[in-house]
Order: sequence, then C-alpha cells, then structure tokens
Amino acid sequence: MMENEPIIIRTENLKKVYGSGEAQVIALAGINLTIRQGELVAIMGPSGSGKSTLLNILACLDRPSEGSYYLDGIDVSQYQRRDLALIRGRKIGMVFQSYNLLPRLTALENVLLPIFYRREQRLPAEAARQHALAALESVGLSDRAHHYPNQLSGGQQQRVAIARALVNDPALILADEPTGNLDSHSSQEILDLLQRLHAQGRTIVLVTHDPEVAAHTERILLIRDGHLISDQSNGRTRSMPPSNSLSSSPASTTPEVHHDH
Ligand code: ADP
Ligand code: MG
Repeated sequence: MMENEPIIIRTENLKKVYGSGEAQVIALAGINLTIRQGELVAIMGPSGSGKSTLLNILACLDRPSEGSYYLDGIDVSQYQRRDLALIRGRKIGMVFQSYNLLPRLTALENVLLPIFYRREQRLPAEAARQHALAALESVGLSDRAHHYPNQLSGGQQQRVAIARALVNDPALILADEPTGNLDSHSSQEILDLLQRLHAQGRTIVLVTHDPEVAAHTERILLIRDGHLISDQSNGRTRSMPPSNSLSSSPASTTPEVHHDH
C-alpha cells in the first residue's frame, strides 16, 4: 500500500477495560495502529484476544476506556453515543458473522435501512430504492431483492449484509468474522466480493480465524491478550515489542505500526 494514501484509521494507546475489581477484564491493552485508505487488512488472534472489541471501537459502536481513535483525522474517542451513531452512518459499513439482517424485512428493505437512518441528506424514496437495488446488484443479488432472509442461503444473506454495508458509500468497511458461519464455497464468494471492493479502492478491515481468509489480504495484524503483537505485510513479519501495561504510560513509547514498502 502506498505510503502517501491518506490515513483512515489511527489509534494511540487504545485501551478497553470491562468491569471492575476482580471481574475486571483488560480487553485492549494499548493498541497503536495506522491504516491507510485502500488497505485490505486482516485482524487475527485467539478467541478472547480483543479482536471484536477493537473492531467495535473502530466501527464507533463502542468507546475506548483510554487512548485516542482518529477516524479520517477526527478524534472520535470522546464522542457521545449519538455522535458516534451519526459518524458511523456516514463513514462506516459493518458486516457481522451472523449477518444481522432483520428477519421481517426483505433483502431490499434491509439494504434500505442505513439510508433511512442517515439523518442528513435524506434521499427521496424512489432514489433510495434505486440506490439500494444498485447495491444489491453489485453483490449479484438483484434477483433476490424481495426475498426474506430465511429464504436466502447463508452466503446470500452475507452478500445482502455487504450490500447494506456499502449503501451509504462508507470510507471504511469493517467485517467481524464475515465467513465464520459459511461453508468453503460461500466463504470464497464473500472473499471474492471483498477483494473486488478492495480493488475498487475501498478500505476493508476484517477479523478472521481462518488463515486462508487472511492469506487473501495484504496485511495481517495479530492480537494476543489485548496487545498488537505483529504486523505482517507481503509475507514479512515484523514483531512488535510488548506494549505497555495499563498502569504505565504513553503511546509514544510504543512504536507506530506502519508499512515499509
Ligand atoms: P475476540 O473477538 O478476540 O474473541 P473479544 O473482543 O470479544 O475477543 O473479547 C476480549 C475480552 O473481553 C474477552 O476476555 C471477553 O470475555 C471480554 N469481553 C468482551 N466483551 C465484554 C463485555 N461486554 N463485558 C465484559 N467482558 C467482555
Ligand atoms: Mg470476536
């Protein structure tokens, strides 16, 4: 990836702590990360290592306990939920392992939802419909627009979810185990689709357990116990020195993660 592409994601010493006292869990222990426009990045790591926590913060679904998150240059780490929701609607498309489609809505209606949730520049109904149909067409599902989720295969449901993620033309697509519930054929379809979106210049960050899925990306971040322990690009692995514990300080003592090609 080009060094001169704009930075879409930058985190500084990002921490997330759940609970308190004996029940306290340090889900993220100080993550420093830079992702540039147009990158296709995989986040890997054992179960419970903090992958979803990180992705949810990057998606503005949750806030860090400490540290900063610059999304498109704006520090959103102190934003209140309402403002996070606004910025999410404008800049982020999210895809989940279990698709998260609304079962009582058709494929088309599911894809229309983010357009209606967008408070500013609301489209007239017919324009919104055409826009949603175009998104469904881009994932090869024009002929399933009026089907309900339970009338679609898992792979088709995930393609609807991707169309929904795309419909507001987000700067960033985030996917948490997008192929986790799919057979290998459907997984490959979803991967092909994500790669096509990447080729169109989209920025995509996906969490996966599957090394084969990760192999289709150009950069692999490895997380363990809330620490970013490696950042691998083009087959070369760069090990990260241990990041700081929660009690110790600043981001500046942890090296920036970046590319070196
Ligand atoms: P991963 O996605 O890598 O499996 P998660 O980010 O879901 O990991 O979880 C990281 C850690 O934070 C785990 O120990 C998990 O149990 C804990 N955790 C996640 N969400 C919550 C929550 N809402 N409340 C308390 N602990 C949580
Ligand atoms: Mg997870």
